[in-house]
Amino acid sequence: MDKFGLIGGKLGHSLSPAIHDLFFKYVGKVGSYELLETELDEIPARMQALRNGFKGVNVTIPHKLHVMPLLDGITDEAKAIGAVNTIKFTSDGAFGFNTDYFGFGRMLEYNEIFVKDQVCVVLGSGGAARAVVKYLADAGATKLFLVTRDISKCDPHFQEIAPGLEVITYKELENLQGYCLVNCTPVGMFPKVAASPVPKSVNARFEASVDAIYNPSETLFLAQAKACGKKAVNGLFMLVAQAVAAQEIWQDEKYDSELIVKIMHDLEQKI
Ligand code: NAP
Repeated sequence: MDKFGLIGGKLGHSLSPAIHDLFFKYVGKVGSYELLETELDEIPARMQALRNGFKGVNVTIPHKLHVMPLLDGITDEAKAIGAVNTIKFTSDGAFGFNTDYFGFGRMLEYNEIFVKDQVCVVLGSGGAARAVVKYLADAGATKLFLVTRDISKCDPHFQEIAPGLEVITYKELENLQGYCLVNCTPVGMFPKVAASPVPKSVNARFEASVDAIYNPSETLFLAQAKACGKKAVNGLFMLVAQAVAAQEIWQDEKYDSELIVKIMHDLEQKI
């Protein structure tokens, strides 16, 4: 049986085993997916052990950076983002990828949000924003804005991820108009669902609002967009698509978006 897993700090609430078990069920493969809670000082030994027996692992908070020096190769986008969330073990070594990047891209494509030559805005400057900004830049967004609560604390690395990116405040966002607005902050996430990172007047000036949050399925941020007659997409597709992208890397196969949708529908019952 092929062995997979997730390395991270506290993993009690992870949905990853459920997603990968549904993947195995729908594609008819036999595999196991284990939660591998790992302390920082245990990472080198853990990686060594995984090289002998595991086909691949995902990596989550807080180890997405820590595993990077232990790898034999890292893709360009994962290097640019500065985070590895997927590792493939082969006879040639251990190789790092970032599938949040692909998951976000596939979510946009599936929902017919085409960002090429468009103005896009990302809210928040954390880990999710890095993959999202890199994808939007690579997909040809004409102008990218990153909105932060404090410009002086925003990581300057964002300018390297997307040259030409403009970092602005929430006050400056009030005067901006564009195509796609992406929430990469935790504002509105369960259980504090009565909050939105922006007022409805901001959603009204964008054709599509996309939320990285998947619980609740409709955040206040998305409800505001819908009330303005705009496109509204939650983060569940991205969550499942990044897991399927990891399986594509591990299995060396391609899976269509209908598989992602099937897993997503089953998962909705578990959230
Ligand atoms: P993070 O690194 O903890 O924070 C994201 C950023 O949000 C922070 O850097 C901060 O940026 C901003 N922020 C934090 N608290 C805020 C507040 N109270 N008000 C306004 N802004 C605030 O989180 P993350 O890992 O990037 O994840 C962000 C969200 O995306 C989470 O809800 C997470 O569950 C979700 N996510 C979803 C997927 C998926 O597959 N769907 C993948 C990854 C993450 P500033 O300091 O610059 O304002």
